[in-house]
Order: sequence, then C-alpha cells, then structure tokens
Amino acid sequence: MKLFELKGRVAVVTGGNSGIGLGIAQGLAAAGAAIVVAGRRNEKTLAAARALEKLDVRTVAVELDVRSEASCRAMVEGTVQRFGRLDILVNNAGTTIRKQPQALTLAEWNEVMETNLTGAFVCAHAAYPHMRRGGGKIINIGSMLSIFGAAYAAPYAASKGAIVQMTKALACAWAQDNIQVNAILPGWIDTPLTEGARREVPGLNERVLARTPAGRWGAPADLAGLAVLLAGAASDFITGAAIPVDGGYSAQA
Ligand code: NDP
Repeated sequence: MKLFELKGRVAVVTGGNSGIGLGIAQGLAAAGAAIVVAGRRNEKTLAAARALEKLDVRTVAVELDVRSEASCRAMVEGTVQRFGRLDILVNNAGTTIRKQPQALTLAEWNEVMETNLTGAFVCAHAAYPHMRRGGGKIINIGSMLSIFGAAYAAPYAASKGAIVQMTKALACAWAQDNIQVNAILPGWIDTPLTEGARREVPGLNERVLARTPAGRWGAPADLAGLAVLLAGAASDFITGAAIPVDGGYSAQA
C-alpha cells in the first residue's frame, strides 16, 4: 500500500483558487490527485487550474458559492459526472468580518456562519452518497480560533469552533462507510485573508511573531503535507481529529 500516493483519486478543494486552498491543492496534485478547484471568482479559479495543470494532473475550474445549496450540490454532481468519482473533499472556503461583536449586524453574522460552517456541511452532505460506495476523505479547515477567542471575530470563532465539533460528529457517523473526516487548524498563514488583518489589527504582526515558536508566519505550502496525509491511505485509522499546523502557536502558554 502506498501511504501518500493519490494517483487515481479525485479531490475537490473549495476556495482552491487562493491562499491555503491553493497550497493544499498543489500538495494533493503533486501526490497525483486530479483536482477540482472551486471558487466564486472565475478568473482566479481558472488561473489556479492552469497552474495546477503544470503538475501533470487533470484539473477543472468550477464556479462555486458555498452559501448556495444548489451551487454546492451542482459542484459535487458535476465532479462525479466528469470524473466518475469523488474521493477527497477539502472544505476550505472561508471568510471573516473583523468587528467588535456589538457592531455586527445579523446579516454579517450569517454571512460568516453560512460560508465557514453551513457551506462545509452542505458540501459534505452532497459528497456522502458518492463517497460511501468506495470510502472517502473529508478535510475541514478550522483555525486557531477553533481553540481561542478574539474580540474582533465572534462569528468567525463560532464557525471555526463548530467546524471541529461537526468534524467529530461526521467522523462518528460515517466511519462505518470508510469515510474519514478530520480538521486542520492552521496557525497564522500569510494569505490574502490575513493581509487585511495585518493592516487592520494594530500590533498583530508583532504578536504573531512573538507567540509562534517557529518565529515566522506560515506559508500556504506548509499545509500541504498534512493534507496529503489526511487524503491518503496513511490516515485510514485517523478520524475525528483536529490537528494544528501552526509552528507551535497553540502549544505556547
Ligand atoms: P483567502 O482569502 O486566500 O481564501 C479564501 C478562499 O475562500 C478563496 O479562494 C475564496 O474564493 C473562497 N471563498 C470565500 N467565500 C466563498 C464562497 N461563498 N463560496 C466559495 N468560495 C468562497 O484566505 P485563506 O487562504 O487564508 O483562507 C482559507 C481558509 O483557511 C479559510 O477557511 C480560513 O478561515 C482558513 N484559515 C486561514 C488562516 C490564515 O492565517 N490565513 C488561519 C486559519 C484558518 P472566491 O473569493 O473566489 O470565492
């Protein structure tokens, strides 16, 4: 058995056109998986697909809004029609709105919860009937705010805490179908999402560097190794886990 070989497998990465999603897609492609890159911004998604094709795997760019149930279901069904299977789902699409809780509107709360949590559930729900035939791997992307709180991130922290509990529940429910469901908890990673935070949250850059034992921000490529492990045979007895990739951030008192 080849523990880290993904040749012949088909992976969907939501939000795969940017940042962490693209880093994970590149890792899965390098291990041999065909990739469906899914996001809202078509041009960016097409550019990501072109970059992934250079790794010599079949790649498709798909328009997806995870806030729309119909869009999630169409993405999964389209993948199965095109490739005949779906083996790996990476629920990575995510967003945040940085405000103190008292300044948030209900619409803003819902936007973050629907994108980060409900969208992941709907994609997993749509993937389940296809995975249960031959087994499958679902990788949900949490955050340090799955563990810690932050004054400017009430809906983000709520969604990322909940995605860990959802991961455990799906893992329990679907273990009998040979579907493993795990979460990756990235530390502070340099992406378009955190570029904004560095600008908007005074002192954040210095705090991250001081608190991270590795002494640096992560790069999207830092997430690829664990994603390949959780996508392949190496993780067939790992399910319901939430594993930090954070340069030691969550280990530091
Ligand atoms: P980016 O902003 O680079 O990526 C976010 C991705 O999500 C984009 O590809 C975006 O594509 C997609 N997306 C957002 N909303 C939707 C939607 N409604 N439907 C479909 N796709 C959507 O940020 P990151 O790479 O940093 O974030 C990726 C994930 O990692 C998120 O879940 C984030 O919470 C998590 N994370 C990031 C950390 C970091 O330090 N960067 C730390 C911990 C967790 P498009 O705009 O085309 O739709």
